[in-house]
Amino acid sequence: MEKSEEGEEYLFKIVVIGDSAVGKSNLLSRFARDEFDLHSKATVGVEFQTQVMELDGKEIKAQVWDTAGQERFRAVTSAYYRGAVGALVVYDISRRTTFDSIKRWLDELKIHCDTTVARMLVGNKCDLENIREVSIEEGKNLAVEEGLFFIETSALDSTNVTAAFEIVIREIYSNVSRRVL
Ligand code: GDP
Ligand code: MG
Repeated sequence: MEKSEEGEEYLFKIVVIGDSAVGKSNLLSRFARDEFDLHSKATVGVEFQTQVMELDGKEIKAQVWDTAGQERFRAVTSAYYRGAVGALVVYDISRRTTFDSIKRWLDELKIHCDTTVARMLVGNKCDLENIREVSIEEGKNLAVEEGLFFIETSALDSTNVTAAFEIVIREIYSNVSRRVL
């Protein structure tokens, strides 16, 4: 995290983690560029994308990182996590195995980041209601248990994508301003 000399510009690194194909890259491109890719491949990857927003009259730059396929080999490097102050931990509501993996991703986050990292549990693909395997209640319960924010999103139809990132950014910002004051 960086703060400008004037104290009015912030850069927050946010990581997006979760099993392969849960929709991480599409959440990111929806948030940063309002784009969705039906045939996105796990391979190619932009390292991160930056989105600027204003909070309290301050310019906030959210630098959101994509695993770029590293997660397929369960080999997300420590460099990926370094300096992160926020995390979206994503599963696919239509694939229970991806929900079962959440604890493992949280463990990994605990190893690499300090405890103040703002964490949001994200149940993506909520447009796939007809083939849902994980209920909203299960998501909520896990979030309460682990002390996470919780939201269901659809990168396909844009539901809650901006909200998911903004809640995390606001939480990071309030953590920072508490520390500064
Ligand atoms: P990643 O491996 O976690 O980065 O996942 P991707 O973003 O590459 O998405 C994997 C697949 O899921 C792609 O075929 C996407 O088109 C699809 N996908 C991503 N988000 C959604 C969503 O919200 N709803 C639906 N129905 N499909 C999605
Ligand atoms: Mg991806």
